[in-house]
Amino acid sequence: MSDRAEHVVIMGPQGAGKGTQAALVAPELRLVHISTGDLFREVRKADTELGREIRDYYDRGALVPDELTIRMLSARLDEVMQQDAGIRGALIDGFPRTQAQAEALDRMVADRGERIAAVVLVDVPRERLVERLSGRLICSNCGATYHRVFNPPKESGRCDVCGGTLEQRSDDTPEAVERRLAIYYEQTAPILDYYQTAGLLVTVNGDQPIDDVKNAITAAVRPRFSDAE
Ligand code: ADP
Ligand code: ADP
Ligand code: ZN
Repeated sequence: MSDRAEHVVIMGPQGAGKGTQAALVAPELRLVHISTGDLFREVRKADTELGREIRDYYDRGALVPDELTIRMLSARLDEVMQQDAGIRGALIDGFPRTQAQAEALDRMVADRGERIAAVVLVDVPRERLVERLSGRLICSNCGATYHRVFNPPKESGRCDVCGGTLEQRSDDTPEAVERRLAIYYEQTAPILDYYQTAGLLVTVNGDQPIDDVKNAITAAVRPRFSDAE
C-alpha cells in the first residue's frame, strides 16, 4: 500500500445519490466517508455560538463561509488519517462546491503531502432530482439516507442501521431545494471542467438502481489508486 493518503471526491447535484453511494463504496475502497453536510448537521444541533451561526446558513440552503468549512474539513481529515492504518484516505462528499474551494482543497492536500486519486461525478438529469429529494428521509441519529419509495427502511420510520428515528431534512423544503440546486448549477458544476482538465474526473451514470451505481463507481475508481488492484 502507498504510504501517502489518497482521497476521492464524490460530486453531483443534490439528490444524485452521493451520500447513499458514499456509505456503500467507502468501506469497499478502504476510504472513510467525510460529508461536510453531515458535519454541519451535527454542529447545527448544538446550542453554541457556532451551532447558531451554522443553523442560519444551513436552514436557508445557503453556503457556509469557506474559512469555517475548510477548517472543519481539515480537522476531520486529521482525525480520519489517525484512525486506522488500513485506511487509504477520505471519500469527500459535499466539498468542493466552488472554484475557490477546489483550489483550497488542492492546497490542503498538497500541504499534507497527500493526493487526490479521482473525482467521481454521479450524473443524474435535473428532472429526476426533485422526486428523489422530496421523498428523502434521514436518520436523526446516524445520518443514514433512505427514500420513501426508492429505498424504504425495513420498518417504517426506523433506521435499519441503528434503529434511530427517520425524519425529513429541514432544508428539503421546495424553496431550499431550489436554492441549493441553483447554487449547484451556477457555482459547483463549473468546477467539473477543472477536474476534467486535471485528468481526475470519472463520470458514472447515477440514473440506475443503487447497486448498479455502486458497482460502476468502484470499477471506475479502483484503477486510479497508485496500488491499483
Ligand atoms: P445526495 O447526497 O447526492 O444529495 P442522497 O444519497 O441523499 O443524495 O440521495 C437522495 C435521495 O435519492 C435519497 O432519498 C436516496 O434514498 C435516493 N436515491 C439515491 N440513489 C438512488 C438511486 N440510484 N435510485 C433511486 N433513488 C435513489
Ligand atoms: P445538499 O448537497 O443536499 O445541499 P449537504 O448535506 O451536502 O446538502 O449540505 C447541507 C448544507 O451544509 C448546505 O446547504 C450548506 O449550508 C452546508 N454545506 C455543506 N457543504 C458545504 C461546503 N462545501 N461549503 C459551504 N457550505 C456547505
Ligand atoms: Zn441510523
